[in-house]
Amino acid sequence: MAAEQHDSAGKKPPVVVVEDFHKTYGSMVAVAGLTFQLQPGQILGLVGPNGAGKTTTMRAISAIIPPTRGRLTVDGYDVEREPVAARRRLAYIPDDPQLFPDLTVTEHLAFAASAYRVDDAEPKAAQLLRRFELYEKRHTPVRDLSRGMRQKLAICCAYLHDPVALLFDEPLTGLDPRGIRTLNESIRERTAAGAAVLISSHLLGMVEDMCTHLLILNRGHARFLGTLEELRERYPAEQSMGDLERIFFLATEDEPIGAVG
Ligand code: ATP
Repeated sequence: MAAEQHDSAGKKPPVVVVEDFHKTYGSMVAVAGLTFQLQPGQILGLVGPNGAGKTTTMRAISAIIPPTRGRLTVDGYDVEREPVAARRRLAYIPDDPQLFPDLTVTEHLAFAASAYRVDDAEPKAAQLLRRFELYEKRHTPVRDLSRGMRQKLAICCAYLHDPVALLFDEPLTGLDPRGIRTLNESIRERTAAGAAVLISSHLLGMVEDMCTHLLILNRGHARFLGTLEELRERYPAEQSMGDLERIFFLATEDEPIGAVG
């Protein structure tokens, strides 16, 4: 049963809820008590140094890895107890999408359509392929696609079932400028229609351009969660820098990545 209730003020419920999320691998603490929500229309930038826990968080929301502790929901579905329903409402696009080398572009979309039971998939798939300039390659097997084309195919497959939660791990890897523009436009359209987006990236300029909110992670801990305006209020002296870079270093510098106990 989807959680489509509205509260007394008519506000829609969050698309993604992450509550006290912990993930450990043996003695290695990857994420230590992370809590945040993604509201419809929000684009949350997830930034942090290598090993901060960004991919771990995205994989847990996507029901790929179980949390060690905590609760995660997507569109009201608990990702541990109702993983299939949760997965139907989301799309996770990793930076190295796992595709089938021998299947063509069209076959991938047909596979995604059947996995997600998408009605009217063919015209939708054709429209997505045209938009991401892959239509000419529709009969080409994945092994003969360029890296950027594979990334675009993964995005087309992810969009096919109109997920309400979109999770992008370094989405611009390998995309050409036109591909970047198309992706950015498509993200804005989908959030305008009520989807929520989580984007993990090291490209702070892109985060600043695209995101409505920011979550800075360091060694599995949230160092900041809020809007970009709130971030600038927190670090007023750094505003003159004109970008996030200096703030990023300040927010993460007191706990350099190194040996974790
Ligand atoms: P990057 O910016 O490099 O992509 P990240 O923020 O996405 O980093 P994660 O991939 O979430 O970082 O990794 C967080 C920590 O968890 C790292 O220290 C990593 O080595 C560890 N880790 C991730 N997956 C595993 C695993 N399967 N087994 C053991 N440790 C893991």
